[in-house]
Amino acid sequence: MTSPANTAPIITDVLIIGAGPVGLFAAFEAGVIGLSCQIVDGIERAGGQCIELYPDKPIYDIPAIPMCTARELVDRLVEQCKPFSPPMHLGHRIETVERRDDGKWRARTDKGLTFEATAILISAGNGSFVPQRLQLPEAALLEGHALHYSVPRLADFAGKKVVVAGGGDSALDWALELRSVAQHVTLVHRRNGFSAADSSVEKVRRAIEAREMDFVLGMIAGLNAQGSALESIEIRQIDGSVSLAADQLLVLYGLVSDLGPIAGWGIDMLGGRIAVDTSSYESSVPGIFAAGDIATYPNKQKLILSGFHEASLALRKAYHYAYPDKKRVHIHSSYDARLAERVVASHEA
Ligand SMILES: Cc1cc2nc3c(=O)[nH]c(=O)nc-3n(C[C@H](O)[C@H](O)[C@H](O)COP(=O)(O)OP(=O)(O)OC[C@H]3O[C@@H](n4cnc5c(N)ncnc54)[C@H](O)[C@@H]3O)c2cc1C
Repeated sequence: MTSPANTAPIITDVLIIGAGPVGLFAAFEAGVIGLSCQIVDGIERAGGQCIELYPDKPIYDIPAIPMCTARELVDRLVEQCKPFSPPMHLGHRIETVERRDDGKWRARTDKGLTFEATAILISAGNGSFVPQRLQLPEAALLEGHALHYSVPRLADFAGKKVVVAGGGDSALDWALELRSVAQHVTLVHRRNGFSAADSSVEKVRRAIEAREMDFVLGMIAGLNAQGSALESIEIRQIDGSVSLAADQLLVLYGLVSDLGPIAGWGIDMLGGRIAVDTSSYESSVPGIFAAGDIATYPNKQKLILSGFHEASLALRKAYHYAYPDKKRVHIHSSYDARLAERVVASHEA
């Protein structure tokens, strides 16, 4: 679910920052323990590195699943959370985290959503995913006008001469999609092969043969513009260069991780990670926990299964912040009648 910006704070026991595999499992564990939670992720899809970096690769080291692709793992984790229907706010990056006078936490996203939580679990992996930008001095002036790193609205490209740069799934899929609105589409890639699904590669090859789009082999070396209006793009090739007339440039070179605002939240960091105490995966700031790749401690292994364990212990301590007067009684899931009912109900729904 992508939530709209909202000014009223959303109240919850635990705010989970990051909807990668660890954040998703944490949402399930929060439900099992009896904590309400809200999940926030800066990008528009859940799944973190599994979905953004290696969706179709097999994973072999998830207990009791001899082999599944990263995408299947994320689908299963989303399915596992369903009994608790944890609200997921995708496309919202948490920018600020502050302690209120009553000890609770207030966190705010870049799009104006505010959360109030008794505890925070940071499962932010390597940080936020941001697009790999074009490294040209003239690029900054054009960004948002004639140079884009995503396609918020297809209509913005209607009737335009569009150049799509990149050779992965996003570049190929958008080049194919843009044919329906653009005056002309040219795909530019540095190699004569693509790192995308076979079906997309085949569709692109057929579209080029049918002259529904052009393909140019080479690298973008310069942008010629009048103010913020793009006029042409210089493409460097092995034996020279060509100039392509273009009004819009869509660069899809993939995503890179950027720790983002986390380092400014007053938490002790070690080598760009959050230092935690391994008895509860609590950070140096009481009430803020970290699990998964963002957490560090001696002999830390950046594995999905380590993150599951860390999140599970962190939430057990977080319970005491949410319900200081209650004693939580541990029940194995196999004996948890409330959990069983919810799982059955979510399967029947
Ligand atoms: C190619 C590859 C293969 C791998 N193979 C395996 C394997 O076989 N087995 C294994 O166990 N591990 C494997 N890993 C490692 C595994 O993917 C990571 O350990 C795992 O993804 C960590 O999960 P996470 O939930 O901690 O973080 P991530 O998956 O990185 O997710 C973090 C999420 O937090 C979000 N986020 C960050 N900052 C903010 C913010 N301020 N506000 C909102 N959202 C934010 C990000 O957008 C991201 O979606 C592999 C990794 C790679 C790259």
